[in-house]
Amino acid sequence: MAQVMDPGAAAGASAELGRVTHWIDGARVEGTSGRSGAVYDPATGRQTKSVDFASVDEVARAVASARAALPGWRSTSLSRRTEIMFRIRNLVDVRRKELAALLTAEHGKVPSDALGEIARGLENLEFACGIPHLMKGGFSEQVSGGVDVYQIRQPLGVVAGITPFNFPAMVPMWMFANAIATGNTFILKPSEKDPSPALFLAELLKEAGVPDGVFTVVQGDKVAVDAILHHPDIKAVSFVGSTPIAKYIYETGTANGKRVQALGGAKNHMVVLPDADIDMAADAAVSAAYGSAGERCMAISVVLAVGDAGDPLVEAIKARLPKIKVGPGSDPTAEMGPLVTKQHRDAIVGHLESGAEQGAELVVDGRRDPLYDPDDGGFFLGVSLMDRVTPAMDSYRAEIFGPVLQVMRVDTYADAMKVIDANPYGNGTAIFTRDGGAARQFQFDVEVGMVGINVPIPVPVAYYSFGGWKASLFGDTHMYGPDGIAFYTRAKVVTSRWPDPGTSAVDLGFPRTR
Ligand code: NAD
Repeated sequence: MAQVMDPGAAAGASAELGRVTHWIDGARVEGTSGRSGAVYDPATGRQTKSVDFASVDEVARAVASARAALPGWRSTSLSRRTEIMFRIRNLVDVRRKELAALLTAEHGKVPSDALGEIARGLENLEFACGIPHLMKGGFSEQVSGGVDVYQIRQPLGVVAGITPFNFPAMVPMWMFANAIATGNTFILKPSEKDPSPALFLAELLKEAGVPDGVFTVVQGDKVAVDAILHHPDIKAVSFVGSTPIAKYIYETGTANGKRVQALGGAKNHMVVLPDADIDMAADAAVSAAYGSAGERCMAISVVLAVGDAGDPLVEAIKARLPKIKVGPGSDPTAEMGPLVTKQHRDAIVGHLESGAEQGAELVVDGRRDPLYDPDDGGFFLGVSLMDRVTPAMDSYRAEIFGPVLQVMRVDTYADAMKVIDANPYGNGTAIFTRDGGAARQFQFDVEVGMVGINVPIPVPVAYYSFGGWKASLFGDTHMYGPDGIAFYTRAKVVTSRWPDPGTSAVDLGFPRTR
């Protein structure tokens, strides 16, 4: 059977391509559809692997396996499921460097960033270790004479997760930790751009004692996604990715009777008031805009500089940019890696061009980085700073999803709020100020799901839930945390009375409680 290449081998010069398979019934399974996709090492630009793309029949086989595993897993005791969740958590912890190397090899993010992603994913595994507490229901004694009422939460059945390229380990952990801890069986369809971390996690889960069929991976593209959305045995779908696909997943999944939570794209604004500590704001803007090459849905992509904050802030940000070390993950001094694909890198360059054409000032141009080569090599682009951006510009209206920070100058706090309100996205936002009253007003006013006060990337910890508003999320529940438990379970309310022949009588009236 073909094996996925070792993490370290991915960046090598071997002409032989590794093959990334599915994971069904607790084992790697080679695809039979005859279709596959290329996986690149973004730091060299070379194809290193080929990933199998599932057919409708292969998805059906995966669902059948997940369905067969359901009765056994559902009835596994909470204590045993907890023990397994602890083991998964420990294995991911111990093997985190290998997992991080896989992220670097296929996504391109530098090791420190890859390890950061895994650390945040681990928090979700740790949350799920508390599943006995999280699954507790409620009990009301004596709601009527001799009658008790209680609510229990039960798993949905077979559930699926469809994940984006930018967090190939963490976003699957957002989903499967709570999904399997609550007693569901879970099918993961990872991004075809960096599919190997899913298989690595599958092996760790098996080692931890997860029974075959409880965690399944189907690799693929739209064919696999559509097969998931139409399969009658899949009860719920969690999705994270771009807004047009999130909307499609939500509409198609719910039309087929599934519970769906679909998280979409973002354009995150950071408001800097004139009273803010400019150095602190500049540090935060640079960290949040260029970390992971800007390929984060919570990246700051626009700074709204209010009043006098504009000039000193742009100067302070500009002064920090030459110090950012762009390079491959193999360079221990590199702070920012390449983009995920050449196509994505070129699209970002297109935004730089259109921004400049439409009147923005390119204060720092990432194309000047020595590693940027439009024709050859890795998919590198340096950091860019675009000042005097306006809402009408194409580059502002797009989710650039790259190492480009845009600055928009506004006169007042109210003008800043108008810009945020008019933007279709509502994932994350931040305000930088020393004024507690202004910050509190911002938190009250802003139509965005995750808010930072002097914190630029306010990703909630695992015991809260993650989710944006407006076009950044389709569905009712946010992801992971308490909302994740609610999403993957349904409530059942039992009204119970034990036989007492002395009080038994025929009564056709509506049940009364008093
Ligand atoms: P994407 O939407 O292109 O792909 C996401 C998933 O959908 C992948 O598994 C892909 O195979 C599948 N897919 C792609 N096109 C499809 C189609 N036409 N039909 C059915 N399935 C399809 O997103 P991406 O480029 O992998 O990830 C980047 C995007 O994800 C950005 O927009 C980013 O903001 C967003 N994102 C959002 C969050 C969040 O929490 N809101 C988190 C991470 C990433």
